[in-house]
Amino acid sequence: MKIVVCIKLVPAITDVKIDPETGTLIREGVESEVNPFDLYAIEEGIRLKERYGGTVVALSMGPPQAERALRDALARGCDDAVLLTDRRFAGADTLATSYTLSCALRKIGQYDLIICGHKTTDGDTGQVGPGLAEWLGIPHVSYVRRIIDGNDRSIVVERSIDSSYEEIEIPLPCLITVTKEINVPRLPSLRRKIESRRTPLQTWTSTDLGKEGRFGLDGSATRVIKVFDPPPRPGGERLDGDPQTQVQQLISKLKERRLL
Ligand SMILES: Cc1cc2nc3c(=O)[nH]c(=O)nc-3n(C[C@H](O)[C@H](O)[C@H](O)COP(=O)(O)OP(=O)(O)OC[C@H]3O[C@@H](n4cnc5c(N)ncnc54)[C@H](O)[C@@H]3O)c2cc1C
Repeated sequence: MKIVVCIKLVPAITDVKIDPETGTLIREGVESEVNPFDLYAIEEGIRLKERYGGTVVALSMGPPQAERALRDALARGCDDAVLLTDRRFAGADTLATSYTLSCALRKIGQYDLIICGHKTTDGDTGQVGPGLAEWLGIPHVSYVRRIIDGNDRSIVVERSIDSSYEEIEIPLPCLITVTKEINVPRLPSLRRKIESRRTPLQTWTSTDLGKEGRFGLDGSATRVIKVFDPPPRPGGERLDGDPQTQVQQLISKLKERRLL
């Protein structure tokens, strides 16, 4: 089974800071880490490789520092890593991000399964996985909490829905997004950490992807006009007295405001 795991480098959650002038996320000089939800995607990819054989490729679009996320994925057991980095990729919304990843998948060529986290801790939209599947024209299932079975034609998964779950068989190639219920990610061994530093990464730019126009800000359908904190909610009013008095007060206040 050839598996591709998509991972994103995000600001470490305690270090998220907003530029007061521009209202955008300050990424420079900020401690960063692999998106925590992507660790479950990496782990599931490695477990499937151990179960069915094959390879796991880690794929990330981001600034050159995103190499750190890919080295971490290699140290955990991925076989190859591809970094998509180019100034032309900057400012991408989820449409452009998923498009760029889809170009890389087409360049990778043959694959059976793509695994994404179900969301990131910074953008937090949960759109990139489904968007990527749409660009590639393959089926996808989100919120997968367990892979029950698989063969060379399909996989059977459990997908969380509200307070229950669905069991779904999906033909390969397909994409799934996984939740943290799916596994407990392993820690990289010291040996693999050292080896991963020497493993060559593939670095691809927009030229390598061979397409024009739909990358980064140019390829984005949306623009962030303003980022702001919502105004604080005014404090509530406490009604005193016995329940009867409180109800009477409440009714007269609602009438005053023409809500009754
Ligand atoms: C309207 C809008 C405008 C934006 N403008 C900007 C901007 O100007 N500058 C900017 O830096 N950001 C911008 N962003 C954020 C940017 O869109 C996201 O960083 C990016 O599209 C990923 O979306 P997300 O973080 O919500 O991922 P999700 O959809 O929450 O991520 C789900 C999964 O997709 C995969 N994934 C997500 N991103 C990547 C990636 N880069 N590489 C590999 N796998 C990935 C991971 O498996 C992840 O777990 C904008 C977002 C929106 C909604």
